[in-house]
Amino acid sequence: MEMKCPLCGSTNVELWRSGNFDYSKARAEDFKITDSDYGLFPDFLKCNTCDLRFARKMPTTGQLIRHYSGVVDPEYNQESEGRGENFIRILKLMEKLRRKGDLLDVGAATGILMELAEKRGWKTWGVEASKWAFSIAKKRGLRVLNGDFLSYPEDKRFDAITMVDIIEHMATPGKTLEKARNLLKEGGLLVIVTPDIGSLTAKIMGKRWWHLRPAHVNFFSKKTIKWSENFGFRILRLRNYIWNFSLHYLVTRFKWGRKYFNWEWLKKLRLKLILLDSLEAYLERLS
Ligand SMILES: [Zn+2]
Repeated sequence: MEMKCPLCGSTNVELWRSGNFDYSKARAEDFKITDSDYGLFPDFLKCNTCDLRFARKMPTTGQLIRHYSGVVDPEYNQESEGRGENFIRILKLMEKLRRKGDLLDVGAATGILMELAEKRGWKTWGVEASKWAFSIAKKRGLRVLNGDFLSYPEDKRFDAITMVDIIEHMATPGKTLEKARNLLKEGGLLVIVTPDIGSLTAKIMGKRWWHLRPAHVNFFSKKTIKWSENFGFRILRLRNYIWNFSLHYLVTRFKWGRKYFNWEWLKKLRLKLILLDSLEAYLERLS
């Protein structure tokens, strides 16, 4: 198969899973953050060098940006309390590893992470593709740019870059890591949170795994993160991500839940779930 891995460039790739989704027919709704079209995904290939799984017919970065610029997702803010708790956990570990400084949040969405980081003493910048999310972040008075990370200006270096649930949406994860390296100071911190395709949950759920949906065009495993050190990084910490959301969000992920338990008050019950199916990686930029 003459296909190139979009992370490491290897051509040693094979078909991993046949899907049922075609990006030429995609609409902006298919790329919402809270999208629940589980079971809908493209054909995936597996790279035998870095272990990345990636869409066989990858949409281009331009197509993705056009889709994301049109995303409107009010549900995202409904779960903002839980998201905030997750972001604080991440910031706390970052602060253990490095001194607070200038932080760039990639896929800043409505600016929840940026605002929390500012309160803790970081100085933040952000980049967000969705015009809707960007305008909310802007109204909050945050320094956010509407557009694509790959074209982010390189006239400033950062102490930290955060990529929470974003790299799996990108057509060229290799270029993304190169870009992050260029934007970081020596010794700077790159934080990547992304679904773990090597997790037990992913294996047990198979084609019904909640991360398999049109918006996710690549998947990392622990091995893929390890391989990413070749871009000039060193792993400082690698741990599994704790998801925090309402009981309503959880039960309505299932057919029986939507049928019998679609009750408003369930939104008030918060859960901490250790599904152990997301990776949280803290990498240091080497000289
Ligand atoms: Zn690869």
